[in-house]
Formats: sequence, C-alpha cells, structure tokens
Amino acid sequence: MNKENCNVCQLPLADKSHYDETGASVFKCIKCGRFAIEEKALITVPWDEIFPDQRTKISSWLRENPGAKITTSNNIRLLNLPMPTVAEKAEKLLQFLCAKYPNPGQLIKINFANNHYIFESLIKHEKEPESLNKEQKEYISLIAHSWAHNSQELKYILNDYLCINRKYLYCQGENYKITPEGWVKLDSIQNTNINSRLVFIAMKFDEQLKQFSESYIEPAIQNTGYTPKIVDKHEHNNLIDDEIIALIRQSRFMIADYTYNSCGVYYEAGFALGLGIEVIRLCESNFFKNPGLHFDQSHYPVLPWEFEKGKVLQKNLENKIIVLGLGNK
Ligand SMILES: [Zn+2]
Repeated sequence: MNKENCNVCQLPLADKSHYDETGASVFKCIKCGRFAIEEKALITVPWDEIFPDQRTKISSWLRENPGAKITTSNNIRLLNLPMPTVAEKAEKLLQFLCAKYPNPGQLIKINFANNHYIFESLIKHEKEPESLNKEQKEYISLIAHSWAHNSQELKYILNDYLCINRKYLYCQGENYKITPEGWVKLDSIQNTNINSRLVFIAMKFDEQLKQFSESYIEPAIQNTGYTPKIVDKHEHNNLIDDEIIALIRQSRFMIADYTYNSCGVYYEAGFALGLGIEVIRLCESNFFKNPGLHFDQSHYPVLPWEFEKGKVLQKNLENKIIVLGLGNK
C-alpha cells in the first residue's frame, strides 16, 4: 500500500492531504505539523528534488509556525533559509522545552535508547505514523524543534551542547531538568519586547553606509514586518545619548553593522545583549577580512556583505530574521 508522503520532510502522512477553501493542499505531518501549500507552489517547486538540508530547514520552520502556508511569494525565501548555528539550534530547543515543561524542577523524559531509530524507521517506511505512541511523537517533534537533521544531531545538541557544555540542562539517564543556569539563559532570550515592531540599526556615521542601509538593510527589516530606526549622529567622545539608549530598550532586535569598527556600534550591541535583545551582526566583506572585528566579537556569526551586491545582503538578512523566529510568516 503506497502512503502519501509529506512534500517537505518526506515522512509518510497519517492522514491524506485535503484542500482548503482557497484550493491549497493541507497536510498534517508528524514532523512538520499542520501546514498548507498553495496550488501554484505545489506545482512549481520540484518537491521531489529539493536538498535534504532544505527539507530539514523548511520542516522545522513549519513546525515553529503552525498553520503556515507555502506560497509562490514565500517559497523561494523558504528554500533559501540559512541553517541556524548550533548555538541557535540549542536555544530553539531550550525554548521549546521551557514552553512544554514550564515549571522549574519538572522532569523532562527523553529516551534516546528507545526512540533513536523512530525517525529513520519512518523515512524507510518501516514504521507507520499512526502506530507511534505519544512519547515517540514527541521525540519526532524534538527533532523538528531543534532544527536537527536526525536523531544523532538532536542527541548532540541536547546532551553535548545543552547539558555538558552549557549546563543549561541537567541529565540523568532519560530524565532531564532545566538547571538554574538554563532559566537564567531563558530569561535573557525570552519575552524581550516581544510585541515591539521596532528595530534599531547601529552603524558608523558614514554617507556611503547610510545609503547602503537605506537601500538594502532598511527594506529587509520592513519586508519582515518591522520599522527600522537609525540615528544619524556623529559620535561625541563615544557617549551614547539617551535617545539611542531608549530606542535600543524598545527594540525587538537590533542590527549592528561593524564596518569601520565604530566604538559606538560595539557599545550599543553590548548594551542590547545585556538586555537580552537579539543582535544580528553585519560587516562589509573586505573590512571583515581585514582588519576584521575586534577579537571579542569574532566568535559571533556575522553576515558579510558587498557594496555592489546589496540585494544579496537584503535577501540574506530577511532570511536570517525569519530563521531566528523574528520575522513574519
Ligand atoms: Zn513533513
């Protein structure tokens, strides 16, 4: 008996897809959750041929955005989503565990010994989704929420990164608990101006950079549903005035462009980080290579860009905002 597969993650679907009132196909997938694909996007995207990486990313994005619809206006963007870093994947998983187990001290049971084969068995059609029990379904959802490719990666993010390296989780056998360090981390990444639509841009005061920002950085912010705010001011003895402080405090996240290494940008990004506000770092490509960023920032991910390729940066920035879970659907 041939079962219908999910177009995105290719796992077998428990229920057949059906059409909604707009003619879009609605899927309920054990990994991607409930989502729809507009008829035109269903036909124009070669779903059988997309890369495994693209399947992982779109599947996890759908899981994070329940009920989302893939359309001809967002399909290119979804196919080009950047892969979150390991730290970002771990943060996403920690936030998911906190949402599901919100009480301090609550036990989280994750049994790798029993479940590590489930995902692979589903892919190989050795197991049917309707035969899975609650624990097994939850296990598949953890793979999606951590943006992991498979069980092995989930185990690494959970055990090696979150438990051993960062100590955000305590682990004994199949029992996990969020540690006090984990709760502090969650405080710093959650609920920071969650309803704000403002995004502060920090960059060196420079006419060419300003024009670049107006042409590409600000449109990327607007296209993801936010209002960019940049303050055109020279730095005065590196003093950051009250207006800038107030804007950073109100921002949902912040863009820090490190081109030409302005002290103000370092200060403003550090201030935002201290408030738990996400900072997306940019830098012009040649400057990034030499002299580059100050060493204490160099371990953070940076989006490099080129003056002649502003549209590329605009697209990359939009994707970054979306993959961090900050953008509109
Ligand atoms: Zn799926």
